Amino acid sequence: MRRPGPIEYEVYIIGVDTDKCEACGECVFVCPTSVWELKDGVAVAVSPEACLGCMGCVGVCPVSAITITEI
Ligand code: SF4
Ligand code: SF4
Repeated sequence: MRRPGPIEYEVYIIGVDTDKCEACGECVFVCPTSVWELKDGVAVAVSPEACLGCMGCVGVCPVSAITITEI
């Protein structure tokens, strides 16, 4: 039986500056794994474990409110 090799997991810490967020929804639209939702006028990372670290949300945010940190 084939034994699996090492499996690497990448985990990201997602931060959003709620003072900066303008609830434009760009991060919600661009995220390929539906990490983001808009709630009460700010972006909320509702599924942070699904983050792929693609940095798409960081790139589209017009006010640089999002930080993604690999741990
Ligand atoms: S880095 Fe990519 S996968 Fe992670 S929350 Fe942003 S858009 Fe989604
Ligand atoms: S892209 Fe930036 S400003 Fe727009 S909803 Fe997301 S965090 Fe807020």
